Amino acid sequence: MNRRRFTQQLAAAVAAMSLGRTTRGEATFLASAPGVDGERINRQLLELAHFGKNPYGGVSRVAYSEFDRQGREWAMNVMREAGLAVSIDAAGNIFGRRPGSVATLNPLVFGSHIDSVPDGGNYDGDVGSLSAIEVARTLASNNLVTRHPLEVVIFQNEEGGTTGSRAMAAGLTPAELERVAQSGMSIRDGIRFLGGDPDRLDSARRAPGDIAGYLELHIEQGGVLDDTTTPIGVVLGIVGIRHWDITITGFANHAGTTPMDRRKDALLTAARCIEAANRIVRSVPGRQVGTVGKLAVEPGAYNVIPGLVTFGLELRDLDDAKILRLYQRILAECRRIAALNGTALTSTETLAIAPALTDPGIRGVIAGAAQELGLRTIRLPSGAGHDAQEMARLGPVGMIFVPSVGGISHSPREYSRPGDIENGANVLLRTLLRLDATL
Ligand SMILES: [Zn+2]
Repeated sequence: MNRRRFTQQLAAAVAAMSLGRTTRGEATFLASAPGVDGERINRQLLELAHFGKNPYGGVSRVAYSEFDRQGREWAMNVMREAGLAVSIDAAGNIFGRRPGSVATLNPLVFGSHIDSVPDGGNYDGDVGSLSAIEVARTLASNNLVTRHPLEVVIFQNEEGGTTGSRAMAAGLTPAELERVAQSGMSIRDGIRFLGGDPDRLDSARRAPGDIAGYLELHIEQGGVLDDTTTPIGVVLGIVGIRHWDITITGFANHAGTTPMDRRKDALLTAARCIEAANRIVRSVPGRQVGTVGKLAVEPGAYNVIPGLVTFGLELRDLDDAKILRLYQRILAECRRIAALNGTALTSTETLAIAPALTDPGIRGVIAGAAQELGLRTIRLPSGAGHDAQEMARLGPVGMIFVPSVGGISHSPREYSRPGDIENGANVLLRTLLRLDATL
């Protein structure tokens, strides 16, 4: 075969392949793409809100509480109605399974959580969990069988430290199992309370590569989408978080008799450091955030110059190297300020959570699905933690955000509009189908 003929044949083969993909992935699918029943999702959100309903209009459904258990029972029934085979793994996570047509493929996993913070709202976690079930129900009622097996998941104790997803993706240490959760129950007892088995946690573990992918729809919990009236957020990743305790040592002395130029005022140093931290974090472009939200002053009296101050610095960004660069600049500036005030400074890192990036390919699929539905998107980081950050250890993950009105979350005033929720669920459905065809 001459080279020219070979090239022509190759081009024809590629065209046929892409035509095949288009037929399966776009043309046919688009023409017959089903939509979710948004009214049902929103009705179910109100039903779920009964479990742990508080007088302020939200819920207190903390993990391992009786309300949590009741809410989960209710959710498992909704899963069964959607045609899913329901089970609880040893870590207490709920799975609703639907077989795929290709037995050798790993599952596509999608879902969220339904536990809340104390005095929380009715949308955080619930929107993603109920939309995932609705997506499975839509596939069932349209007789659509995916290639991959599907697993709708409701993770346990997301708000108390992504316990369930961590048990699945990384494992829990013995110390973590003994930690007392918000409900007053230890994690170990809580897992048992929910129907798991803390002595068999290994059986809930998955290894990297065990899942084809993970998708999570969630409310933004911030105000970017609402401020810009953008219906769909394509999440770039979950930011990394680092914490430091910075301790300033001065000299506690009489506030009445020590002249102003003879003082070693630890709090004055801290105050100037806090101002510097804010200025440095804002001095570079990007969406990084930095906060000092914790301050301990000793001895803590009107008439004593503060001798010892510890403040807690937190930095968050999608880029861990950027976090560390900002920290080094803040530390250098604080050392300079401390020396000027005759005080000494030490810093100890107390927390380091690595950023978890979403899969670039899945981001593109989410954006494409939104576009097909005529929905504008923006790409943004998640400043809050999610189960998706744990699942990123196991395979490619994608996250879809819908607007939180006023950017309010972890509050009874948390609210997402019914239409936005329906849009998010439809984007989830289309993303899932597209990934099923291409992964
Ligand atoms: Zn959440």
